[in-house]
Amino acid sequence: MFKVRSIRKLTPGLDQLRWVILLLAVAVILPTVCLLWFMTQAVKNVQIVTKQRLIKVYQEKLAEAAEKACDSWKQEFSSLDEKITSKKPFKVFGYLQDRLYYDGAIIYDKTGARIYPLFSTDVNTITELSDTFAKAWQAEFEEEDYSKAVILYEQLTKSDNTYIRFVAILGQARSHAKLGRSNKLVSYYEQKRELEAAIGNCMRLAFNNEDKRCDIPTLTLLANARLLMIELSDQRLRLSANKKEYFESLIWDTYHQLYELLFKENEAGSFLPSDQAIFVARRILDIYKQHPFLQKHPDNVNFGAKMDKPGIQRRIDAEELSICMVEHLPTATILSDWPKHQFQSIRKGEESIYAVRHAAEDGNIVLFCKERFINCFRSFEEMFANSDAAYRIIDDSGRFVTGVTQPEGKPFGAALVGEHFPGWKAELYFKHGDIFEEAERKQRATYIWAGTLMIVLMLVAGGFASQAVGRQIKLNRLKNDFIATVSHELKTPLSSMRVLADTLLEGNYKDQKQASEYLELICKENKRLSGLIDNFLTFSRMERNKQAFEMEPTSPAAIARAAAEAVKTKFGKGRCELAVDIGDDLPDVVADHDSTVTVLVNLLDNAYKYSGDDKEIELKVFTEHDSVCFSVADNGVGLSRRALKKIFKRFYQVDTTLSRHAEGCGLGLSIAKFIVDAHEGSISVESTPGEGSTFTVKLPPAG
Ligand code: ADP
Repeated sequence: MFKVRSIRKLTPGLDQLRWVILLLAVAVILPTVCLLWFMTQAVKNVQIVTKQRLIKVYQEKLAEAAEKACDSWKQEFSSLDEKITSKKPFKVFGYLQDRLYYDGAIIYDKTGARIYPLFSTDVNTITELSDTFAKAWQAEFEEEDYSKAVILYEQLTKSDNTYIRFVAILGQARSHAKLGRSNKLVSYYEQKRELEAAIGNCMRLAFNNEDKRCDIPTLTLLANARLLMIELSDQRLRLSANKKEYFESLIWDTYHQLYELLFKENEAGSFLPSDQAIFVARRILDIYKQHPFLQKHPDNVNFGAKMDKPGIQRRIDAEELSICMVEHLPTATILSDWPKHQFQSIRKGEESIYAVRHAAEDGNIVLFCKERFINCFRSFEEMFANSDAAYRIIDDSGRFVTGVTQPEGKPFGAALVGEHFPGWKAELYFKHGDIFEEAERKQRATYIWAGTLMIVLMLVAGGFASQAVGRQIKLNRLKNDFIATVSHELKTPLSSMRVLADTLLEGNYKDQKQASEYLELICKENKRLSGLIDNFLTFSRMERNKQAFEMEPTSPAAIARAAAEAVKTKFGKGRCELAVDIGDDLPDVVADHDSTVTVLVNLLDNAYKYSGDDKEIELKVFTEHDSVCFSVADNGVGLSRRALKKIFKRFYQVDTTLSRHAEGCGLGLSIAKFIVDAHEGSISVESTPGEGSTFTVKLPPAG
C-alpha cells in the first residue's frame, strides 16, 4: 500500500546528515588539534634550543664572575701575606679593618693563643697592692668614709710605681667627687670645692705624658681618668656657671686627650683592650653629641674632620664582632681542621658569619665576613648588572649570602663559587620571571586561540554547508513525494477516462443516452484532472515564489459570491446545503480577486469532501475587530487536536490511505495559507471531531 510520506518520515535522511556533521567535525577538529600540537611542540623545541644557548652564555658569565671572585681572593690572601708579616697584632687588625671585605678578625700567635682582640681581663694588672691600698679601698667602698679614703689615697700618690700612683690619684678623685655628692655636706661651696679637687686630681692623669709610653693597664686607667674628668667637669658646670669657659675648654682638651687613646698604640705598643676601647669609643660619640660647645669649638674644624664618626662606628662593630667570635674560637687549636683559605660558616643566632683562616708567618688569623662580605662578590654584581639574569649566592648550608633576595621562579643555571668557597653555589634567575616560559605561554595561547577560531569557523561553515545539503535532501524528498502523489492522483482520472473512451470507441454502449452519460463522466474526470493540475501548478508556482498577485481594492461580497458560484454545480448534487451569509456594509479588501476566490473554493471544496451524506455548509462574510472575515463551516468529520496543528503543512493529509474517498493531495490548505499570508491576513480553524469544522480567513480592510 502506498503512503504519502510526511516530512517527519524524512528522518533517515536527517540521521545521515547528523553523521555527516559528526564526520565533518572529526575531520576538522582532529587535524586542527594535531596541527596545533605539532606547532606547539615545534615552538617548544625552538625555545629549548634558544634557552640552552642563552643559558650557556649566562653560565659562562657566571663561571667568569666566580673565577674573578676567586682571583681577587687569591690576590687578597697574597697581599695579606705581604702586609701583615712582622706587624704587631694591633696594627694587623687595623690594617684588616681598613680592607674592604672583613667585618672582624681574631689573631693567634704561634702557640695558638689569642693575641687580638684582648679583653681587660687578659691584661695583667698588679694584684698585690699594699695594706694602705686595701684600707683606702675599704674606706671608699665599704665604710663610705670618703675623707678617710682621700687621706689614705694621698699617701699612695707618693709611690714610685706609676700604676699605683695613678690608681691612687684616680681613687682620690673619685673620693673627692663622692664627698662632694654625699649628704653630709650641705654647703654649695663645699660641694664645689670637692668637685674641683676631684677635677684637679683627674687633671694630673688626663694631661699626663705617661700615656705615650705606659703599659696597657695604665693606659686603661688614663682613659678612665679622662672620662671621669669630663663627667666631673659636666657636674661642675651644672653646679655653677662660674668659670664656665674654663671648664668647657677643660672638657674640650680632655675629650681631645681621650680621643688620642682610641684605637691607637703608644710608643710602648700598648693599646686599650677591645672591651675598654669599645666603651671609650661609644662614650666619645655620645659626649660629642651631648656637648654642643664641642661641635662649636673654634678648633673643631680640624678635629671634627679628624674624628671619623662612621669609621669609629665601623671599628666598634669590628671589635665587637671579633670579641663575640672569641667565644667560638677561643684558641687556634680548633683551626687545625680548617683548610687554609676556605670559608666556613659559623651560625650566630639567626645570622651566619663567614670565617676564613689565613696562616701568617707567626701565627694564624681568622677573618670574619658579614655585611662587607658582599664586596667579595662585586664581580658577580658587575657581570649581571645590565642583563636579564640575576644571581644569588648560597653558602654550603644552603643559606642566602648575597644577590637577589626574592628570585622569581626556579634557577635556570648554577655554578660553584670557587675553591675558596667549598660547597657554595651561585644560582641564576631571570630578573623578570622565565622569559621563555612567558613567550611559550603566549605563543601557545595564540595557537590555541587560532585553532579554536579555525575549528569554530570550520564548524560554522560546515553547519551552513550541512544545512544547505539538508535542505537539498529535504527538497529532493519532497520532489519525489510530489511526483509520486501527482502520478497517483493523475492516474485515477486518466485511467477512468481511458476506460470510458475505450468503451465508447468499441461501441460498447446500449444507447445514445448511455453514450452521453459516459461522455459526461469523461468530462467530469477531465474537470477533476484540470482542477488537480491547477492545484499542482499553483503549488509549483508557490514553490518557486513566482505567484504574482494583482492586489486591488476588492469587494469581499464579490469574492464570496464568485466562490459560491464556482462550487454551485458540485454542491447542487446530492444532499448538500450551502448557505451563504454576506454581511452588510462590508469594507473592501486589498486583494487579488482570483486568488482569494481560490482560497474560499479550496475551503468549500474541503467542507464538501470531508462531510457525510447530509452536508450542511455555510459561507459567511462579516467584520470582526477591524478585519474582514470569511468563514466556511461544515458538519463534517472534523479534525483531531493533533491534525489541527498540521493541516496547513504541505502534503499533509489526515487520511493518507489510497482507499480514502476524498480526492486531493494535501495542497489545498497550504495553498490557501500561502495566499492569505501574501495578503497579510490570517487563516485559522476550529473543529470538533465528528461534529464539523469552521475555517476562518481574516483579511485587513482596504485603506
Ligand atoms: P486535500 O487535497 O487532501 O484536501 P488539503 O490541504 O485541502 O488537502 O487538506 C489537508 C487535510 O486537511 C485533508 O487531507 C483533510 O484530512 C483535512 N481537512 C481539510 N479540510 C477539512 C474539513 N473541512 N473537515 C475535515 N478535515 C479537513
